[in-house]
Amino acid sequence: PSVEASDGYFESYAGLGIHEEMLRCRRTDAYLQAIRSAGLAGKTVLDVGCGTGVLAIACARAGARKVYAVEASAVAECARAVVSASGLTGLVEVIRGKVEEVELPERVDVIVSEWMGCFLLYESMLDSVLRARDRWLKPGGSMLPRRAQMWLAPFRDEEAAEEQKAFWADVHGIDMSCLAPIARAELARRPEVELLLAQNVISSPSCVLDIGDLASCDLSDCQSLCASFDLSSHVRAELHGFVGYFAVELVPGQWLSTAPDAEPTHWRHVLFHCELPLPVQQDERIRGRLTMTQATQNPRCWDVVISFGVSGGGEERTQRYELDVRC
Ligand code: SAH
Repeated sequence: PSVEASDGYFESYAGLGIHEEMLRCRRTDAYLQAIRSAGLAGKTVLDVGCGTGVLAIACARAGARKVYAVEASAVAECARAVVSASGLTGLVEVIRGKVEEVELPERVDVIVSEWMGCFLLYESMLDSVLRARDRWLKPGGSMLPRRAQMWLAPFRDEEAAEEQKAFWADVHGIDMSCLAPIARAELARRPEVELLLAQNVISSPSCVLDIGDLASCDLSDCQSLCASFDLSSHVRAELHGFVGYFAVELVPGQWLSTAPDAEPTHWRHVLFHCELPLPVQQDERIRGRLTMTQATQNPRCWDVVISFGVSGGGEERTQRYELDVRC
């Protein structure tokens, strides 16, 4: 199945709650600033997945000649209302439909889209953006964002591990310690979407995907990835898992980063917990490989495999996850 087939996805964007969360997130300021500096005067723009219309309206205010604001979910009606209340009907054309299926009267100079999901690729909305690019972007046209990167780093979390242990040891006076490993195994299958403190990251991060130019990359480059990493722990610690996050370059030189040491965003971080903590020495190498492929059942979800080990010895471990989260 292709991503267009997963209709439940658009229902999840029909209500205003999720849009309010995005509008409150600092990613909105980052986009608005980028749109103002993107040189849109006189340009035609396609906003892929316009939601409430916030970016499309910003493009119009930045001087765009025409903005096509495409949105598949029912929130398109909200965008229409906001566009009309802003006096921009005509300049901003809200089109309700899947971007893969809509017809536009012309090709555009710029494609604007906020397509990123947790760990960049969750939701696989990039597929739709690249299909829209191939159909509707003029040769030499530009993409906003223009570049995207995924990062992975090992983390420690002794505090959470201790808290878990203590919790199962005394559940309302019942010792359930025998369940702790089962709970841990569950945690180690499903990535957790949480904010990780930057101080819990134990090495510099590894860039596992760098889509250097979204205007020219191939769709297939974004449907699976395989990257190796070789990192050095700057502390002696128990490795509890790997944190995944992303950064996008909106316009040249202007990055929006969701790293643990950046200001929090609504994407938070994706935590891939290990089933068993792995002791690492200071300056010890942590080597491994990350592979990600779109899940066959639902290509908006991803099968993630992280294999890793330390240079000091011990066997290589392999952890498998299904990236199926809503964030
Ligand atoms: N641009 C808005 C909303 C971003 S969320 C903002 O920045 O606030 C992504 C939006 O894209 C969702 O509303 C979703 O329904 C829409 N979307 C995702 N894939 C789409 C597709 N293939 N066609 C049309 N809309 C799509």
